[in-house]
Amino acid sequence: MPFTSLGLQPALADAAAAQGYATPSAIQHAAIPLILHGSDVLATAQTGSGKTAAYCLPLLQQWLSQAASSRRQLAGLILLPTRELAMQVGTTLRELGDKLPRRPKVVVAYGGVSINPQMMALRGGADIVVATPGRLLDLLQHNALRLSTVSTLVLDEADRLLELGFADEIGQLLALLPPYRQNLLFSATFPPALRTLATQLLRQPQTIDI
Ligand code: AMP
Repeated sequence: MPFTSLGLQPALADAAAAQGYATPSAIQHAAIPLILHGSDVLATAQTGSGKTAAYCLPLLQQWLSQAASSRRQLAGLILLPTRELAMQVGTTLRELGDKLPRRPKVVVAYGGVSINPQMMALRGGADIVVATPGRLLDLLQHNALRLSTVSTLVLDEADRLLELGFADEIGQLLALLPPYRQNLLFSATFPPALRTLATQLLRQPQTIDI
């Protein structure tokens, strides 16, 4: 089954092929049509399942289908628990976005390093931001970006986000996001605290459990 049969445009299917993805993985098969449809999604997804591309491919297509404007507007926000994951997802997004008719500007932000290069990277705006929650709040306090245009929010490895104590930060970030947006939540496990967050966050979610 080709990627285009999931609703992806040829440019995105080509980007997947260029990464060596021959056919969609199970999570991609389930998630991509739902995300393209605009649904909120609650997905049980393990590392290695192909979950990153399962949300990055539709996110890129949605961004691409928005009219290009002279000023970049932040369209997608991806929250992850660690610097390593943020860097990996940023790399995947950039590689997938590299051969599209328009190239997205992807900014990756995480703590433990100087904030200044990240502030510089955000000058002139970004199309998609991949971040850990604490550093993203720092950047917002520095007025380095605004979240008011975000149309899709992804919480990936959501169980680890809570394990690492990011619940407060996530709550603060949610208050800065526009109320009408698409929400995607990916997690390997669903402890009670995460179920509570999912209930607050998601509107009539489609559930994927693979
Ligand atoms: P992830 O679960 O997102 O961490 O992805 C695990 C690995 O699977 C990554 O190295 C991806 O490059 C690879 N991958 C993702 N989707 C596919 C696919 N459809 N076919 C083959 N490999 C894939």
